[in-house]
Amino acid sequence: MVRPKVSRISVLVLLTIGFSVLPIVASDLLSKGIGYYNAGDYPRAEEYFMYLIKENPSYWPAHYELANTYLRMHHLEKARQEYMNTLNAKPDLKTAKIAGQMVTFINTRLSKEAHVPDTTGGSLTVVNTPSSSAAEEFKHRIYVVKPLFDHPPVRQSTINLATEVVDRLPPNIYEALNRGGATVNLSPNMTDKWPDTMKNMDAQGLHMAQDAARCYEQNVYIYDRPLIAGTKKLGEPFADDGIRNVLYHELGHATDWSMGKFSATPEVLKIHEEDVNSMSSGMRTRLAYYTTIGPKGSVEAVAETFAGLMGAQGKDTALVAQSFPRLRGWLKNKLKL
Ligand SMILES: [Zn+2]
Repeated sequence: MVRPKVSRISVLVLLTIGFSVLPIVASDLLSKGIGYYNAGDYPRAEEYFMYLIKENPSYWPAHYELANTYLRMHHLEKARQEYMNTLNAKPDLKTAKIAGQMVTFINTRLSKEAHVPDTTGGSLTVVNTPSSSAAEEFKHRIYVVKPLFDHPPVRQSTINLATEVVDRLPPNIYEALNRGGATVNLSPNMTDKWPDTMKNMDAQGLHMAQDAARCYEQNVYIYDRPLIAGTKKLGEPFADDGIRNVLYHELGHATDWSMGKFSATPEVLKIHEEDVNSMSSGMRTRLAYYTTIGPKGSVEAVAETFAGLMGAQGKDTALVAQSFPRLRGWLKNKLKL
């Protein structure tokens, strides 16, 4: 179907006409907005949907598309409000079901405080000061957590390393992380980011406090030093090479998440299983962290294969690259590497 083009000038003209009498024009503007949304131009898409809502507040398709747009812009609160406005405007059953699920999903996300970087809190400083309009760009979302418990601060060399890794990502990977709202958080230790864990330090907490990195959804955490067991003190910092390797691994998780968690799709799970089934049982055991059949093994194999493609040289990187040839091929293709 060929749609007449609606220029930005005609939007202004329509402002004076109002399109409540012109429903066809409303659907054209909606399509135009969706076009911008699909092209990743969320601010422009937002303009179109907001204009439609202003003209006709009960036009639910515009509320729904605006909600999706806010979600992409990581304005979770606004997205939730627009999904609720969609429901209040009595959409069709399918949309109502999705909007309801999205409200629940966002409520969960907002309640999981640990998974949301507290960029407004006093504990973080931004490494790169954004230049006005580019405030939300990925490279401006590298945060440094201030030390607690008399810990030494994150080393400048770690900050430089993380900045350099982010700067050198292939453009398409960078863009995926950028759109996915990814963050990189550098902290002296896990306990500086989540101090409550220091109060009741159990075995699991200690394990995490001695870890070099984590990734929660699209948010990467890099820890500069491990906690010394039985104390509140930190040990010697992790070596630069080690930090670089785990950062690539965690960025693999963040990329996977930012691109819709492809590691859990039937297609990738099948490829992962084929690779695992082609290994010797010795290799399967050696790489147990990556070879569990199902999403748990697949997500780790994807992250470490990604790390290998980015040039990481961790203790398992080369073996994983050799042992998952199908997954590596699929990932190269998917990420256009
Ligand atoms: Zn991992």
